This record gives sequence, structure tokens and C-alpha cells, in this order.
Amino acid sequence: MALNSVAFAPPRPDKLRALGIMALNGMFDEMDGVAVLRQATTDLLKDDVAIVSSFGADSSVLLHMVAQVDPTLPVYFLETGKHFAETLDYVRTLEAHLGLTNVRWLRPDPKDIARFDPKGDLWETDPDSCCHIRKTEPLDAEIAQYAGWVTGRKRYQTKERGVLPHFELTSDDRIKVNPLAYFGDADVNAYKTKHGLPEHPLFAKGYRSIGCAPCTTIVAEGEDPRAGRWRGLNKKECGIHFDFNGAIAKPVAAEDKTLFKDGAFIADPFRAWAEGDDPATVRYTHIPAKVYLENRDAVLANPHPNGLLIAPADKVETLANDLGRFASIAISFPAFGDGRGYSSARLLVERYKYQGELRAVGDVLMDQVPLMRRCGIEAFVVTHQATRKALESGQLTTVNLFYQPVGVTEVPVGTRPFLRRAAETETA
Ligand code: SF4
Repeated sequence: MALNSVAFAPPRPDKLRALGIMALNGMFDEMDGVAVLRQATTDLLKDDVAIVSSFGADSSVLLHMVAQVDPTLPVYFLETGKHFAETLDYVRTLEAHLGLTNVRWLRPDPKDIARFDPKGDLWETDPDSCCHIRKTEPLDAEIAQYAGWVTGRKRYQTKERGVLPHFELTSDDRIKVNPLAYFGDADVNAYKTKHGLPEHPLFAKGYRSIGCAPCTTIVAEGEDPRAGRWRGLNKKECGIHFDFNGAIAKPVAAEDKTLFKDGAFIADPFRAWAEGDDPATVRYTHIPAKVYLENRDAVLANPHPNGLLIAPADKVETLANDLGRFASIAISFPAFGDGRGYSSARLLVERYKYQGELRAVGDVLMDQVPLMRRCGIEAFVVTHQATRKALESGQLTTVNLFYQPVGVTEVPVGTRPFLRRAAETETA
């Protein structure tokens, strides 16, 4: 049996972390919003950054700064389909007034709307899910291409935003830039007056924080400006600014990055199923196959990204119909000698053509990783320190001749070199 090194991509340099988010915040603590924006878009994240704007009551301030720094920067507006007509007009007004040349409208996936909100009233019964399909999902899909994005959030807006820094590092190693973090209400108004910025048409009617029409109301004199958003509900954010844990993003410690994927350890967006979880509402959770089978309708109606957990005794055949519903499938390997997980992985990939993330969970050991990869598993939740070190160093041993080859690229043991070359040519 021939042994050699398997070519894992070397761990991705943690460029953003290396920049030292804390140091960055220290350096720019005293800087004004334009300086923060300029630093972010012309140096730190050059050509790899987008602006996200609600085109609400205060949006003209950030967008005016964008126009000063670079009017060609991509500016995303989430057209949820639920905005006031005045907001849609205001997008065009500001675009023309400021000379922004790259405003992009993002819309929800019509399939999601047809499936989860066919009557357009989801905001009444489940605003979190409504925001998720109309805002979070379209934005996440687009923003994934950038190393960072710029928001107009400010500390004074809510208690939760009270600790907002200029620069946040999200769990998925993206930088969020908040040039207006330290702006107060008076600063915003003074800036608008100084630069003669057009007001949102609804501002004069008493709207102070403007989002979708069904979820925005006028605020009384002296009332918190954001009190008019989701009035009466225990909801303060639409979800696009949540990190995976629902809080203001903060750097993740290296030891908490347990998911090995694409050659690097990253923060795991998914969590394990917990007792008391509701299959109809969980998000970013690996739902055990047994729970899914017992609550299939609720799981399929749940609009959030979720995964599936397959235990050794679970039969993949019973899950085959809905595999496409799950963004990630975790296969449990509870014991070294239990090989049923390998069979499950091959069935998922080869027979059922599962296209999402396939990961191994359990006490994943170094010797198992090459075998798991042969079965189509591409992500590993690793807590075993020796395995972690081997993966971090980019080196693992594996075999390159097989008694039981998988697919067309593996070479059966005993194959003559000249035949092997022919086989390699055929598959090249
Ligand atoms: S703000 Fe209201 S209408 Fe807009 S996406 Fe969220 S719940 Fe739906």
C-alpha cells in the first residue's frame, strides 16, 4: 500500500483577523465618519466592499459620504416588496441628487414568497420569518461575494446597538463598517442641514425610522425614533445585522472555530439540536432525522436555513425526498469502529446526488478524515486536538491505491502503471 501526503489547501490566511479589529477600532476611534468610510473602502477593503442602505429617514448622511468617497461603490437597497411608495421614490431622488452610479435593488426569491408568504401577510403572524425571506436571505446571498460591508447603524438607535464599534468582525470573517456608529440624532440632523440633503418624503409626516410600510408607524414628539418600527412587538432588528448568535458581531476566538472547511477552520454557523427546540422555528440547526420524520410538515414549512443530523441507525432512504431542503447534512460518527456513516455519505452523494454541505460530526480522528473525504464529506467538526493540528498544518497521510475504489478516479490496488496512466488520461 503506498502512502503519501494528501493535498489539502493550506489554511486560508486569516487576513481580516490579522489586521487586528481591536487595533483598527482604536486607531479610528476619534475619526469622523467620512474618514472611517474612506479607510474602509479605499484601503482596508478596496474593491471588496458594498454599502447597504435602507434609504430611510437618516440614510442620506451615509450616502452623501459614499458620494464623496466614491460614487461608483455598489449600494444595495433591499426592495422587500413591502416598502412605502415614497421610499421607492426616495431611492431615485437620492441616487440622482448625490450622483450615485451603482445603486442595486435586491428582491426576495419569488419561489420563497410563493411558498412562505403567498398572501403577503406573513409580517402579521411571523415577522421574523418575513424579514428573513425578504431581507436576510437576498442580502446574505449577495454579500457573500464581499469581504466586508458598510452599514448606517448608530449607537443611539437601540440599547443593543449601544456598544456598536466602527469596525465589527463577524463570525464568518467579514468586516462590517459602521461609519456613523458615534453619530447622535443631533449630528444626523446637523449633517443633513449643512449639506442640504433631501428629506425622505415621510419625515415631515412624523416618521423617524422608516422601514417596510406594514411595520412602520409615526412616532410621537420625544418618543424613541425606532419605537415606530414593529410597534408592540418584541422585535428591534430585521435580522440582517444579527451575527449567527443574534448579537452585535464580535471576533471569534480561534478555539471556537471548530468547523474545518475549504482548508481552514471557521466559526460554525450551525448549532446542534437542543432539547425543547421547535422544528417549526429553529434556524441554523441540524435537526435530527427522527425529529424531522415525525414533524416533516413543520420542518418543511420552516423558512430558515437548517440542516439534518443523520445518526448511524438512520436509513438515508427514508430521508431521500426532502434532502434539497437542508443546507447542510451532518453525519454522526460516534465511535471509531462504526462504519455506517460512510455508507450514509456515499448514498447521499452517489445515489441521491445531494449537493449541499456534507459534514462529519463526533470525535473525528485524523485517520478517518481521508476516508470521509473519499465518501464525499467535505466539512468536519473537529474537537480532537491532534486532528486539529494535522489539519492546520495542511498535511494528512492517505492511501492512493484501493481494494474498493470509489468513483472513477481512484486506482484499484494491483493496477499496472501503464494501465493507470491510460485510466488517468481517460478521466483527465
Ligand atoms: S419589516 Fe415587516 S414587512 Fe418588511 S420584511 Fe420585515 S416583517 Fe416583512
